[in-house]
Amino acid sequence: HAPSAPLRARAEIDLAALRANVRALRALAPGAALMAVVKSDAYGHGAVPCARAAVQAGATWLGTATPEEGLALRAAGLPGRIMCWLWTPGGPWREAIEADLDVSVSGMWALREVTEAARAAGAPARVHLKADTGLGRNGCQPGGDWEELVDAALRAEAEGLLRVTGLWSHFACADEPGHPSIAAQLTRFREMVAHAEQRGVRPEVRHMANSPATLTLPESHFDLVRTGCAVYGISPSPELGVPADFGLRPVMTLSASLALVKHAPRGHGVSYGHHYVTPGETTLGLVPVGYADGIPRHASGTGPVLVGGKWRTVAGRVAMDQFVVDLGGDEPEIGSEAVLFGPGDRGEPTAEDWAQAAGTIGYEIVTRIGSRVPRVYV
Ligand code: PLP
Repeated sequence: HAPSAPLRARAEIDLAALRANVRALRALAPGAALMAVVKSDAYGHGAVPCARAAVQAGATWLGTATPEEGLALRAAGLPGRIMCWLWTPGGPWREAIEADLDVSVSGMWALREVTEAARAAGAPARVHLKADTGLGRNGCQPGGDWEELVDAALRAEAEGLLRVTGLWSHFACADEPGHPSIAAQLTRFREMVAHAEQRGVRPEVRHMANSPATLTLPESHFDLVRTGCAVYGISPSPELGVPADFGLRPVMTLSASLALVKHAPRGHGVSYGHHYVTPGETTLGLVPVGYADGIPRHASGTGPVLVGGKWRTVAGRVAMDQFVVDLGGDEPEIGSEAVLFGPGDRGEPTAEDWAQAAGTIGYEIVTRIGSRVPRVYV
């Protein structure tokens, strides 16, 4: 392919929309700093370009799950604070300290490892203590574990091995407005923070809010909000509304070039298993992306695609590299554009439409788009 030749498929990434989303989120949480969560290759959008754009728009923190993701951002020259929260024994603590990353410590094993690394590096680690306030995932609970972790961290701080820069937690049900766990988690977080501060912890930032909490729960903003999906213009859940309700715009548009358009008679079985059989004489279009590209196989028979100004539906099964749409007799040119999802203002489906078609969430739709699909930054 020449550089200007049409691509088989492309994920266009609108960095101006991303920057506008970051600015909209900052306006929603004016008292807090903003962390752009760029884990999992920025939810499939490309970590480095998205991180750069988010920083330009005022994100002063970047967040990743794994330390390797954080180290890669630093190696690419990203400035500012970078926090990594998903650690396993033997992780690259020393590299993280030397790259000036903030790390999360979720238990005594992690505190032991990070202090050893700090001793070896001859520099203190910046540590965020993780409270499990009710998600039931990572972190320490009150009633023993939290109190032990806080005291051990204070001892390590006194030795100059670390600085407790953050106290933090994560919501279980922030995307379900009014869910009783939201208030319960906030109360527990305040109690756990109060305990740590009474013992002498002086955190720079206390933080809890993900995108749904940032959008709907100002009382959860504290000093820093950690926004992921909203940065990419993805709604946390249909119950909360569509991205535009919050002044957000989807950043990714996924499209492909039709690889074939052909006539088919009535009764023609389409794709593996013949789960679609043409109801009459028709035309079929071949869309050259499949589950290897992240198109959910669960959207077989349901996924929507805009072709020639009309919504068509995946006919039969999504295969590894391709799927078919019934064009109902229309004959668009081979090579013409099939838009799977985008912001929706050209009439195309959105990632949320695909989520509904596949029985999942918008996050998963964009995050799974595979590395075989080039990201084109506009
Ligand atoms: N904080 C943590 C710890 C996370 O794991 C995530 C992502 O799941 C986020 C924040 C961002 O969540 P969201 O994409 O809902 O904003």
